[in-house]
Amino acid sequence: MREEPGIPPTGLPVDEELPERVGVLVLGGGLAGAAALLAAAEAGRYAVLLEKTASFGGSTVRSAGLSAFVGTDEQAEQGIADSVELLRKDLLETGGHVNDEALVDLYCDEQLDTYRWLKGHGVRYGHIHAASGQSAPRSHPTDTTAMLRALFTAAGRLGARLVLGADVKRIRTDGNRVIGVLVERDGESREVLADAVVLATGGFSRDRQMLERFAPQMAQALLAGGEGNHGDGLRMAMKLGAGLRDLPHIKGTYGIYHEAHHGEDGTGILAVYKGAIAVNRSGRRFVDESIPYKALGDASLAQPTARTWQVFDATVMAASNDEVPIYDFAGRQRAGMLEVAQTIEELAATLGTDPGVLEDTVADYNARVVGGEPDPWGRVHLVGGVGERIPIDTPPFYAQLSGTVVLATYCGVTVDTSMRVLDVFGDPIPRLYAAGELVGGFHGAGYMTGTSIGKSAIFGRVAGRAAATEESDLEW
Ligand SMILES: Cc1cc2nc3c(=O)[nH]c(=O)nc-3n(C[C@H](O)[C@H](O)[C@H](O)COP(=O)(O)OP(=O)(O)OC[C@H]3O[C@@H](n4cnc5c(N)ncnc54)[C@H](O)[C@@H]3O)c2cc1C
Repeated sequence: MREEPGIPPTGLPVDEELPERVGVLVLGGGLAGAAALLAAAEAGRYAVLLEKTASFGGSTVRSAGLSAFVGTDEQAEQGIADSVELLRKDLLETGGHVNDEALVDLYCDEQLDTYRWLKGHGVRYGHIHAASGQSAPRSHPTDTTAMLRALFTAAGRLGARLVLGADVKRIRTDGNRVIGVLVERDGESREVLADAVVLATGGFSRDRQMLERFAPQMAQALLAGGEGNHGDGLRMAMKLGAGLRDLPHIKGTYGIYHEAHHGEDGTGILAVYKGAIAVNRSGRRFVDESIPYKALGDASLAQPTARTWQVFDATVMAASNDEVPIYDFAGRQRAGMLEVAQTIEELAATLGTDPGVLEDTVADYNARVVGGEPDPWGRVHLVGGVGERIPIDTPPFYAQLSGTVVLATYCGVTVDTSMRVLDVFGDPIPRLYAAGELVGGFHGAGYMTGTSIGKSAIFGRVAGRAAATEESDLEW
């Protein structure tokens, strides 16, 4: 893996000291926290964000930066037909219809306004493409570091402040009403009082222990995401009786280089979506490679040692695109992450697959593609319902060691449509809000690409606005 990325404090409205008392206290310096902070500041409240690590950005700055929006300028420029109704339908379908529909509706209702709000603060989006769970292309790429910098800077102009190295340990209550937090900083414990607290501490994709408890099926998966993402907010909310949703649906993502490697940015590649096949260590296919990458992740974890290979040829390599990390095959070759050979026999020898098996697998795949015969694994297209299968027959041949990585956990506390955290009986925990990856219910049993960055911005903004309406104990 590459060095831990993160946004240093230079040029941001950072305070060296912890405040005593604030209006809205936001925990976590990723996108959900940034959006909540700015929204609370725009509502006129003294808002402060506490970040546990030495830099800002969490998983947000490690991400591919894709947001799922519809009705945007970029979709119009590319002539893409899409609608809020289609977005809603896709969200419910990918979520297996077990999503919290109120949160799906909230996303749909607020997404365009939030997109315009982000653009108004200087966020820019690039060329849109289609991805998992989307009936129409709606993945809007952006530079997440620039996005966070823009939001923090705008919040700073309104008086908001950021504090680094502030590891929040507990939420303080008076009765069941939240009154602040207990923070550790520079080896000392301190209380910070607040009229409202917004949990935006991300998921637990870096916490092996929590994953073992809630997602034992991920035991052999690699872990990615922000270095501070250990489920702290979830634990603190659970202590106050917060309800939980979507925990049984934690999934990994296929395509990561299944060993520590300096060239791995955490996203992996999906050569399978451009025509590669996936084989296990014996050299046998094990899945319809066109299915969503989370489902590929499950299939790969079920293989012996959970290590598989994506095998492809020069035709797939020619589709390499260095602007889309999951399709940057040439970049992987430059980083020394691909095995290369002039024949499938040679490639098989390098990979150490069972004698003759990879050769038979590729020959059978090619014969069926050319002959138009059905695929034994049911593959019809390259990805989803798009693209025709192509034979793997043009040297050189390539293979990437590929496995499954937990990038995000997409599950967590129950909330209402004001992002108030609800307890196990469905009652709000007074003055406690949540946004971003630690919110449960929205995704349901599956995940549409771009909806985690999308939800962090949309729900973060809702949470900040709502938290700002809490009655203030502050005396100015
Ligand atoms: C490689 C990768 C690619 C991805 N690509 C996409 C994509 O293209 N589109 C998409 O929608 N999603 C994507 N995701 C998921 C997405 O990035 C995250 O779900 C989202 O950014 C979460 O935002 P957040 O603000 O909730 O949390 P984060 O950005 O993780 O921020 C949480 C912050 O809280 C801090 N924190 C934790 N505990 C404490 C504490 N006790 N006290 C104070 N601070 C604390 C953390 O250090 C962290 O900085 C990707 C994830 C990864 C890892």
